[in-house]
Amino acid sequence: MNAGLRCVVLAALLPLVSFAEPIPRVPQGGLAMWPPATGVTQCGSRGEVYAPVAGACYFPVDLDDAKGTKTVFRLRNGVREDAAFEVVDGGFPTERIRLPNDRHLKLSKADLARAARELEEVKKALASRTDPPGTLSIPLGPPVSPLPPGRNFGTKRIFNGEKKGPHNGIDYPVPTGTEVTAMEAGRVVVVANHFFAGGSVILDHGDGLFTMSFHLSRIDVARGDEVKKGQVVGLSGATGRVSGPHLHLGVRLHGARVDPRLLLPGGRVVVLDSR
Ligand SMILES: [Zn+2]
Repeated sequence: MNAGLRCVVLAALLPLVSFAEPIPRVPQGGLAMWPPATGVTQCGSRGEVYAPVAGACYFPVDLDDAKGTKTVFRLRNGVREDAAFEVVDGGFPTERIRLPNDRHLKLSKADLARAARELEEVKKALASRTDPPGTLSIPLGPPVSPLPPGRNFGTKRIFNGEKKGPHNGIDYPVPTGTEVTAMEAGRVVVVANHFFAGGSVILDHGDGLFTMSFHLSRIDVARGDEVKKGQVVGLSGATGRVSGPHLHLGVRLHGARVDPRLLLPGGRVVVLDSR
């Protein structure tokens, strides 16, 4: 075998060697974390480069991300270090929801235009970086207290027999009028009454993290406000497309829709091997 060919064969074998070790598995909508270390100045995944949180790198997986091996990196003392994990199926169940009427399913022309406009508004807000004051710390605080078990993250939804998009957040079954609080300090980037989401507040917490509270019956903040962790932003309700009162909580981390529970105390974050 000539030397050139041997090199090609070796190169082909190399990935097999590293794949022989089990690599961590992160479900769609999940979160991986490279534990804190000194000298870490950058983290990179999903085409973004961002700062660590207290020395740790968080790597979110969107609920729709493709399954397969993902490589991420961090910069430590000026040296790039790579890590890999396997994105596995989120195992999201199908949910059938009965709405009292078809208004939020068979949209009028005006409602269609309104929903499209509102989607653009949210997209624009989530793409912004308002650099709010304060330092992000994980875990976050609860959005309501006491916090009941949340449900429906990632579920494939069928409304009155019609298939719709996946459920992007988590639903907390709390009665109308429950105080909803900021999970971390941040800046209010959206205050609105949207067609699907109803009374909505979206907060930019910096470091690529946004939280959103939907279906609110009352809103106590204005766009541009700076809020403290634990500050009441409004009251839960049943506005927008709902089958009953609850708080819908959504999280975007570096553009990925992750299960908000992962950022709360006891969240099952997948810890990457620190070599
Ligand atoms: Zn919801």
